[in-house]
Amino acid sequence: MLTHKNFTRKCITCGVEITDCGSAKKYCTECAKERNRKKRREYMRNIRNSREYISPANEVKQARLRSMQRINAIARHTTNYGEYQAKRKEN
Ligand SMILES: [Zn+2]
Repeated sequence: MLTHKNFTRKCITCGVEITDCGSAKKYCTECAKERNRKKRREYMRNIRNSREYISPANEVKQARLRSMQRINAIARHTTNYGEYQAKRKEN
């Protein structure tokens, strides 16, 4: 019967010995965590830098801005409130 092989490896960044690990293990737990964080940070930065990305907070802000612009545009061309309301319903 085959038994699971356990290796002893050294973390390639801090040199700590890792016991009972697989053959492909390169980092100790702490370094693996740090590496993961860095990768994720980079990944998120790339997403945020891309043109298509709109953060949820920004989306709300932009929607509010758009509706304010619409209201202001109507208000600029009307003289009284009744007219303004009528035009708002038109659109
Ligand atoms: Zn390490």
